[in-house]
Amino acid sequence: MNIGIDIDGVMTKQDKYVKKYFSKFLQEKNISFKQDRTKARYNMQFGVTQEVEDAFWNEYAFHYAKVVKVMSNASQIIDKLRREGNTITIITARVHSSHQTPEGEKMRQAVKTWLAKNKIYYDNIYFGSEKTGKVALAKESKIEVMIEDSVRNTNELSTFIPVLVFRNQANKKTKGPNKIIVNSWKDVYKTINNLSNINKVKNN
Ligand SMILES: [Mg+2]
Repeated sequence: MNIGIDIDGVMTKQDKYVKKYFSKFLQEKNISFKQDRTKARYNMQFGVTQEVEDAFWNEYAFHYAKVVKVMSNASQIIDKLRREGNTITIITARVHSSHQTPEGEKMRQAVKTWLAKNKIYYDNIYFGSEKTGKVALAKESKIEVMIEDSVRNTNELSTFIPVLVFRNQANKKTKGPNKIIVNSWKDVYKTINNLSNINKVKNN
């Protein structure tokens, strides 16, 4: 199968990073905040506006790109899926990464460096933007299943392919047809195997 995979929140421990560095940023800027981990969106979790969150990402995007930790078992499972004959297609909408600017190029390089450092090997990589979403890239790259954590992308992609929803605080209410909830990379492996068995039966 051609497996599409998102990076942020699926391969990276984005929540952990934000918890640590968003509070650091807010302290540095003398912005008062209080944490409420039950809220879905990051800015709501800290009780600040979206503008403040945007300012945080503006300042920390390249730091994040460098130091964010890899999700447990991501490298091992992706490797295993690849050795078993699947194609791995990364589709990311990482900030800056779709821009044809020096900053965009710097981010694309940072993403590739992070992937190599964390031993994540892949066949194709596509850089999109949050604005345009991932539908066009998913169709262009002919992926057959997507592993994703964004609510919007999950909703849009599940209209034409199955989506493995990597469960987190922000997508905890997401459910519906073509959406399969996973909680870990081990879950991902089992689910993909089930899907490819279903495909094999269909094609016989
Ligand atoms: Mg994501």
